[in-house]
Amino acid sequence: MLTPVEQRVSAVIEPENQMTANPAEDEQSSPDTWDNLKAEVQNCTLCGLCSTRTQTVFGAGNQHADWLIIGEAPGEQEDQQGLPFVGVAGQLLTEMLRAIGLSREQVFMANILKCRPPNNRDPHVDEIKHCKDYLLRQQQLIKPKIILAVGRIAAHALLATNEPLASLRGKVHSFNNTPVVVVYHPAYLLRSLPEKRKAWQDLQFAKHTVITMEQE
Ligand code: SF4
Repeated sequence: MLTPVEQRVSAVIEPENQMTANPAEDEQSSPDTWDNLKAEVQNCTLCGLCSTRTQTVFGAGNQHADWLIIGEAPGEQEDQQGLPFVGVAGQLLTEMLRAIGLSREQVFMANILKCRPPNNRDPHVDEIKHCKDYLLRQQQLIKPKIILAVGRIAAHALLATNEPLASLRGKVHSFNNTPVVVVYHPAYLLRSLPEKRKAWQDLQFAKHTVITMEQE
């Protein structure tokens, strides 16, 4: 029998073109490993961003985290440092997580794209398509209890929807059988401080979702 949270998750229709497990996984050759995955990302040339990146940004944090935090793509600072969510927006996200009792060391942070789009433009559909399997494999290795989709682009890529972020908030969605909660991107919050209250509500909602799952 499904728990209440599972019922809410399963009530969300998973779009047909949502990122799904790599069919190659079913053929089960050898198990995936972090080392293999990191090396593949580091050497990836699947899309044109390989020619403009300083370095890939694989992701960072606890490889056994309950929380997987997913943004859209590396920005200038991330591209320079090789780490996700650094710079002013990253600091705000770190503070927001700390406010619900989570340190950066407790979560795993990654992006939909592992390479920076030039001038921080939005990721192209073909770039997301080429990069998506890396994120899927990260999710399968981590096995998080919850995914936080940070910002519109991450939410749209994960959930295969074009719905406005405002209508995606406050619901438990699903990505590859893991609950997903959507929050505003900290870069947006820096430009629109009144929305910080909503971001706080989103994080509380995500935390409540995890607590409810743990109690069931
Ligand atoms: S963005 Fe992803 S698919 Fe494109 S080159 Fe970088 S790692 Fe490869």
